[in-house]
Amino acid sequence: MLIQKEIDLQDKHSFHCPVKTEYWVEYDSIEELQQILREANDFGLPIMPIGGGCNLLFCRDYEGILLHSCIKDWSLLEEDEKSVLLQVGAGLNWDEWVALSIEKGWCGLQNLSGIPGEVGASPVQNIGAYGVEAKDCIESVMVLDRETLACETKLAQDCAFGYRMSRFKQDWKDRHIVCYVNYRLSKDASFCLDYGQLKEEVQKLGEPSLKNVRQAVLTIRNSKLPDPDKLGNAGSFFKNPCIDMAHYQSILNDYPDIPAWPQNDGSVKISAAWMIDRCGWKGYREGDAGVCETQALVLVNHGQASGEDILHLYEKIADSVEEKFRVKLQPEVVVLK
Ligand SMILES: Cc1cc2nc3c(=O)[nH]c(=O)nc-3n(C[C@H](O)[C@H](O)[C@H](O)COP(=O)(O)OP(=O)(O)OC[C@H]3O[C@@H](n4cnc5c(N)ncnc54)[C@H](O)[C@@H]3O)c2cc1C
Repeated sequence: MLIQKEIDLQDKHSFHCPVKTEYWVEYDSIEELQQILREANDFGLPIMPIGGGCNLLFCRDYEGILLHSCIKDWSLLEEDEKSVLLQVGAGLNWDEWVALSIEKGWCGLQNLSGIPGEVGASPVQNIGAYGVEAKDCIESVMVLDRETLACETKLAQDCAFGYRMSRFKQDWKDRHIVCYVNYRLSKDASFCLDYGQLKEEVQKLGEPSLKNVRQAVLTIRNSKLPDPDKLGNAGSFFKNPCIDMAHYQSILNDYPDIPAWPQNDGSVKISAAWMIDRCGWKGYREGDAGVCETQALVLVNHGQASGEDILHLYEKIADSVEEKFRVKLQPEVVVLK
C-alpha cells in the first residue's frame, strides 16, 4: 500500500495539466482496499478511483483521495471447447492485457488494441474502437461496494452497457470500485473488419489473424492519434451525438455528405468530428489548448494549458456546432470541474 499527500498529478493523467491531489493512495489487494475505505469513510473526504487518467480532465486540484488499483493479476476461471473465461485485475494496463490475450490465441479484444488506460475503467466507459466494444466480451464485473465494503459480482446484462456508457457512470457512480473484470474470449477466430480502413490495412499484412488485426489497428491509431506522452490529450473529447430521424433529414438537406450511422432504436448517430471540422476548428490553437490537426475530436494540451483552458475551448466548439447544426455535443471525457 502507498499513501502520499499533496501529489502532483501531471504525470498521472494523459492531459498532463498542472494539478495536484490531496491524497494519492495505491492498493495491492481487495483487503487493502477495504482497509483504506474503512478509514477514508471516517475522514469524510471525497474519494475517486483512477486508472491511467486517460479519460479525465482535471479543471482544479482534487481535494480528496484518488485511489489507484495495483491489482494486476489474471487467472483462467473456466475453459471449454469454444471459449475461455478470464478474471483480470483492474490495475493491469489495458493494452498489455490485449497483447497477452492475442499471444494466447484468444479472440475478441484485438480491435481494442492500443487504447490507453487500465482494465478497471474498461466496463465503466464501455471502451470501444473499430466496431467492437468491451461489453462484447465482458461476462461480469467484480466490484467492491464503497459503503458496505462487500464484494459483489455484476452480470454484464445488469450493467446497461451503451455507447461509452454503463451504470458505473450513472446510478452506480460513486458506489462501486471495479476490482476485477471477467472477460469471455473465443477460441475460434472471427473478425470484425468493416470499420473505416481496417480491412485494407489488414490486407497489407496478409490474411486476417489476431496478430495482423492488432498490428493494423495499432498502425491506424498511431497515424491518427497523438501520443499523450508527447502531446497531452484524452483521446476523443466529444461523443458522436444520436439524433432523431427528422432532425437528421433536416441536416442532410443542407449537408448531404455528413457521415451517419442508423441505430437500432431508429435514431441516427452522426459524426461529431465532421461537424467540428466543418465549423473550422481542426488544428485551431488558443494559448496551449488546441484541437488536434489530424483528428478534430481530440483536444490537446500543447504544454502549459490548464484544465479550465481545455474546458473553455470545448465549450466554444460545442456552442459553434450547436449554432450551425442545432446539435448539442457531449463530452466523452470525464470532466472534473
Ligand atoms: C490517445 C488516446 C486514445 C484513446 N482512444 C480511445 C478509444 O479508441 N476508445 C475508447 O473507448 N477510449 C479511448 N480513449 C479514452 C481512454 O483510453 C479510455 O476511456 C480508458 O478506458 C481510460 O482508462 P483509465 O484507466 O485511464 O481510466 P481513468 O481515466 O483513470 O478513469 C476513467 C473513469 O473511470 C473511473 N474508474 C477508473 N478505474 C476505476 C475502477 N477501478 N473502478 C471504478 N471506476 C473506475 C474513473 O473514476 C473515471 O470516472 C483514448 C484516450 C487517449 C489518451
